[in-house]
Amino acid sequence: MAWTRFGKKKDMPGGLWIKCENCGAMLFRKEFEARHRVCGACSYHFTLPGRERVALTADKGSFKELYTSLRAEDRLGFIDRIPYKDKLKASQSKTGEKDAMIVGTCTIESKPVVLAVMNFAFMGGSMGVVVGEKVTLAIEKALELSLPVVIFCCSGGARMHEGAISLMQMAKTCGALCKLEEAGGFSISVMTHPTTGGVTASFASACDVLLAEPHSLIGFAGPRVIATTIKKELPKGFQRAEFLLEKGQVDRIVPRENMRRELAKLIAYSQDEEVMIADAKESAADSKAKPEKPAAQAAEKKDKSKGKKKHRKDSAAKSSKKGG
Ligand SMILES: [Zn+2]
Repeated sequence: MAWTRFGKKKDMPGGLWIKCENCGAMLFRKEFEARHRVCGACSYHFTLPGRERVALTADKGSFKELYTSLRAEDRLGFIDRIPYKDKLKASQSKTGEKDAMIVGTCTIESKPVVLAVMNFAFMGGSMGVVVGEKVTLAIEKALELSLPVVIFCCSGGARMHEGAISLMQMAKTCGALCKLEEAGGFSISVMTHPTTGGVTASFASACDVLLAEPHSLIGFAGPRVIATTIKKELPKGFQRAEFLLEKGQVDRIVPRENMRRELAKLIAYSQDEEVMIADAKESAADSKAKPEKPAAQAAEKKDKSKGKKKHRKDSAAKSSKKGG
C-alpha cells in the first residue's frame, strides 16, 4: 500500500526535496508545504499532520483546544516488538501530542463548530480509548452547544495494543452520533488519506455528510489483504475516494484547497433555508448569464437542496418516532 511508505527516508532525499509517492515528481519542500502538501505535478494529496489541518481549517486564532489532559494508558501491559508503554512515550516525544486526536471549538468562515482532527503521525492515527473518548466528547460538546461537528479522519484503524477496549470505541462514538442526530444536530466526516479499519467502520462513515479528499484510501481491510483472501484481482481504483463516490459510499470529493469553503457552505445549508434559496437564485442568475449552461443546472441544484432538506426532515421525523 502506498501509504505505508509515507515517512520512509528513501522517499525523502535530503531535507529540501520530497518525492511524490504517486507520480514520482521531485517537489521542492518549501513549495510543497506552501501548497499544504498537495503535489504540484499530479495534485496527489499527502497526509496532512493534525496541527497543520487545524491551522488550515479553522479561522485564524479561533481554535480553542479542549480535553488536553487525556492520555493513553497501557492497561493490558501489551508487548508487541516493544512494550506499548514505550511506544506511547516515543510517539508522545516524537509528535509533542498526548494521543492521535485533537479536539476544540473554532469558527470556519465565521461559522462556529466543534472540530475534531486525527493525527496520523501518532501511531498511525490508531483509535484507542483516548481517540474514541475525544471523538465522543467532541460530539457531546456539539450537542451541548448546538453546534455542528466536523471530524477529519485519518487512521490505520483500532489500536490493537488496547485490545477490546479499542474496539468498544466504535460503538461508543456511533452512539454519540446517534444522540446528536436524534437531537437534530449536524455532523460532517472528512475522510482523508488513509482512513481504514475501525474508524471507517464507525464514526467516519456514520456522520450526516461524508466528504473525502481526492484519491484517499478509504476501506476496512487493506486492498492487498482482500485480494489475497478472495483470490481475485480487484477493480481499478478499488477503495479510492473516486471509486467510493461512484458507489455511493461518499457524498462528495473536495480538494484540500476548497475544503474550508465547502464546509462553511454545508454548515450554512444545515442551519438556514434562506442560504439555500439565495444559492439557488445565484445559480439561476449565473445560468442566465451563460446560456451554454441551461437553467436545468440551477433547478437540479435546487432539487438537490430540497432533497437534502427532505432527508433532514425525514430523519428528524424518524428520530422523533424513535424518541417517542
Ligand atoms: Zn505527484
